[in-house]
Amino acid sequence: MTVVINMRDGVDKEKIRIAARFILDGKLVAFPTETVYGLGADALNEKAVKRIFEAKGRPPDNPLIVHISDFDDLRKLASDVPREARLLAERFWPGPLTVVLPKREEVPYATTGGLDTVAVRMPAHPIALALIKASTPIAAPSANISGKPSPTLAEHVIDDFYGRIECIIDGGETKIGVESTVIDLSSERPTLLRPGGLPLEEVEKVIGEVEIHPAVRGKLVDVARSPGMKYKHYSPNAQVIVVEGRRENVRKKIAELVEEYRAKGFRVGVMATEEYAADEFFHLGKTEEEVARNLFRALRELDKKGVDVIIAEGVEEKGLGFAVMNRLRKAAGYRIVWA
Ligand code: AMP
Ligand code: MG
Repeated sequence: MTVVINMRDGVDKEKIRIAARFILDGKLVAFPTETVYGLGADALNEKAVKRIFEAKGRPPDNPLIVHISDFDDLRKLASDVPREARLLAERFWPGPLTVVLPKREEVPYATTGGLDTVAVRMPAHPIALALIKASTPIAAPSANISGKPSPTLAEHVIDDFYGRIECIIDGGETKIGVESTVIDLSSERPTLLRPGGLPLEEVEKVIGEVEIHPAVRGKLVDVARSPGMKYKHYSPNAQVIVVEGRRENVRKKIAELVEEYRAKGFRVGVMATEEYAADEFFHLGKTEEEVARNLFRALRELDKKGVDVIIAEGVEEKGLGFAVMNRLRKAAGYRIVWA
């Protein structure tokens, strides 16, 4: 049985208490954050955390992010908090930034995917913060079946998990729409493991140059430090094709591809920042922020409309565009057409 709690009008203390009880009892609660919805469990309860992996069908070596509501919680999870971590936390928390640090013994290996490091972030969403404050640090990956696009609406979570987890908190649409930026601070040099809701440029203003892990660029690697990166991700049922290149060329290429696939008898959807004629069309908006916010929703909605092929317009890889392109290329299984 799944309890769906409506909190679209803001934090309700009584309802938070109910959800917090579930967490403290080792149950699963999906909740909104400013990035995407998370599927949460008590981060220090190994049995509870294992249920997240089961529910999602997530490989056990793909580590979870632990969500905290208090700066002091960081020291309870990480055995060493270097200067860079302090600077980043002071500047960007609560917010869409995750730092990877050496873990304390108390953090179960189930939570860290078997690693000696733990990923931590303080989310900037009043519901998430209230839930953590009323319970404990919460391990939460995105609340989607493993490999599917991340959820930005409670409906998406309901589609994937209704009847399979104890509680879903509906807090309306998430503001940012892509997951957090993940920076590894456990090795010699700060390294970007995943571009996300906080532009890398902002991180570099505070701690200087950050290395980019090769897996971010789509190189297939199988190293312990980037376990999440070796799995297929964000994929709807339809085949996604990303078109990248100069704007005028992209426009022409997308129109051509639509015709080509339709001629072969496929139903074609397009997701882009300007209008296209196709069987289905999802307007992503104009700004970087709008595109990030609408990205996963577009993939899910076009899928629901039963298209066979989704043609996605590429965006410039700066600011939030870095996170958007990372998700899009993965969703496409690196099927990229250069225009
Ligand atoms: P998700 O919870 O689905 O947003 O995925 C969390 C991602 O954070 C993982 O797939 C990893 O890429 C990254 N991550 C979490 N914990 C660690 C860690 N201890 N070391 C390296 N990367 C991590
Ligand atoms: Mg995820």
